[in-house]
Amino acid sequence: MKLAVLYRGPLASCNYDCPYCPFAKRHDPPGLLREDRAALERFTGWVAATTDVRLSVLFTPWGEGLTRSWYRDAMVSLSHLPHVERVAIQTNLAARPDWLAAADPATAALWATYHPGQVTRERFLARCAALLRMGVRFSVGVVGLPEHLDEARALRAALPERVYVWVNAAEGRRYTPEEEARWTALDPLFGYSVRPHLSLDRPCHAGETAISVRGDGTVRRCHFVQEEIGNLYDGTWRAALRPRTCVNAICDCHIGYVHLKPLGLREVFAGGVLERIPAGWPDAVISGHVPLDA
Ligand code: SF4
Ligand code: SF4
Repeated sequence: MKLAVLYRGPLASCNYDCPYCPFAKRHDPPGLLREDRAALERFTGWVAATTDVRLSVLFTPWGEGLTRSWYRDAMVSLSHLPHVERVAIQTNLAARPDWLAAADPATAALWATYHPGQVTRERFLARCAALLRMGVRFSVGVVGLPEHLDEARALRAALPERVYVWVNAAEGRRYTPEEEARWTALDPLFGYSVRPHLSLDRPCHAGETAISVRGDGTVRRCHFVQEEIGNLYDGTWRAALRPRTCVNAICDCHIGYVHLKPLGLREVFAGGVLERIPAGWPDAVISGHVPLDA
């Protein structure tokens, strides 16, 4: 049995100040940080103990996790567990990545986002160079805002081709065909992000082979459907796993629609679903061996 687990604890603070983010420069009080740490340690204990499942874990904190030692420690310890196939985290890469030298590079991976205006391109690229030297799997992406286009192009040009650069459509923004073409030139899979996917009543792996977990162990099928289907720590999650159809009208976030069965994105991103690296990147994607239409 295989299960992808998206974990999000109480942490909701960030060292960056992105104008498009509600967590910009938010500070968590010490009590909440203690709570977040305890919740993460409980979760890593559950992962370590659940040896009968092939687990993949993606940490999706509201804010930035890697500036906190407990997320770095969790990444390292989980990467060495034989039943953990992947442990990944969404990060702004502000923290130096040297700690990853202690992780198993076959298992640990990063989903890194470049936020122009918050960090210089040179500094961000230096972080990427360190990851490349350590052999750590990672994808890099940007939010597709017009003011980011030049920086996104420069980033793509500066990174080796084997690093996948993704582009997320900015929330609520409509793209003209010309704009879409400009961003697609950087990320051939941008078409999946640019329009929300109609998902109501469509079959989705979420709730069957992927779950969302809160700090208190509450299990939902995904981050976007509020209905609770069990709890990690009382074992009720096991009986909850079954084929399901989506109850939401649309799904417009990669960490959700990558599991929407009709899209077939589990195959497009095979081996890199959680850290967002397409299978066979770059050759298979650029040569058209995977479908690029949303
Ligand atoms: S780095 Fe991420 S979490 Fe932090 S302010 Fe920017 S978008 Fe928000
Ligand atoms: S389609 Fe999206 S919103 Fe619906 S169940 Fe799947 S991941 Fe959740």
